[in-house]
Amino acid sequence: MERELELFISNHNITPESENGRSYVFDCPSCGGKRKLYIEKETGRSICFKAADSSCPKSGSPVYALSLITGLHASDISKELFDHDTVLKETISFDQPNKTQSSDELQPATGADLPLDFTPIYDPSSIDGVLYLESRGITRDLMIKYGLMYSPIMRRVIFPIVMNGKLYGWQGRAIDKVDKGFRMYNMPGRWKTKTLMFYSNLEKSEYAILAEGPISALKFAKAGGFVASMGKEIDDAQLDLIRSSSAKRIYLALDRDAKDKVQLIASKMRDPRLGEMECYMIEIPSHRDDFGDCTYEECEQAFKEAQPVNPNDLHINIEAKSLIRTKLR
Ligand SMILES: [Zn+2]
Repeated sequence: MERELELFISNHNITPESENGRSYVFDCPSCGGKRKLYIEKETGRSICFKAADSSCPKSGSPVYALSLITGLHASDISKELFDHDTVLKETISFDQPNKTQSSDELQPATGADLPLDFTPIYDPSSIDGVLYLESRGITRDLMIKYGLMYSPIMRRVIFPIVMNGKLYGWQGRAIDKVDKGFRMYNMPGRWKTKTLMFYSNLEKSEYAILAEGPISALKFAKAGGFVASMGKEIDDAQLDLIRSSSAKRIYLALDRDAKDKVQLIASKMRDPRLGEMECYMIEIPSHRDDFGDCTYEECEQAFKEAQPVNPNDLHINIEAKSLIRTKLR
């Protein structure tokens, strides 16, 4: 990478604030931090150490950092640096597929699992995806923070599933009105039940907010600690991921038709053999259909008002809407 970066910098008359044997050092164009943006010469890894802004470069590819510095399009920078369109592959680290391991074990995705038409959300060709996400109230900062992409061929916004810096899959959300069954398209394979979207949020959080879909989950940005199960069925392996994270409490932010799952999840999380976790339920504000329709503030407020799930209560879902609550004892 060293030679490519050197050429790029001289070709575009870029003057770093300073440089050392390992890195070029710039002022961060995103947060303005003086000499905070480092681009490692050998690997191209870029990071703003001030990170005062959610769109500060956070690691991975030099493409995003250089696009901030030069104002050039990411796709052009990518072409120049890599001589081909690998911008996506460079933002995430890939392992070589290991064929000797059993097919049941969760394996990171490979570059081949990302179709070539996928473009990062900050790329100009992703504009239709950006407009869709904005219509759902998702901010550009969040789109960039969580590495969202767009597929012009499928006309879907792509949500990558990254855990511990590795890509395990992706879920594509149609931006056009389509039948419910076609709204989501998942990368083929058996990765989904063993992963959680936005799992990096649980690296430091004291609690986990578990939502079903990506848009609902993102609406908890002000509360933090959110992950998405990517569907109605919540697998034990996904609960185990929460249990093994930094989170000590779990908040269920499920759709109204999934309320009957609350007790079951709460009892699973209370298993003393595996380490007990207190379980709370976040109620959807009564004037909204789901958390995805809420504002960030409404979701934060609903989170603050969450009630502990009482192990002795039984929720019975009648006609999907009205709930009655019966004391068992
Ligand atoms: Zn910065």
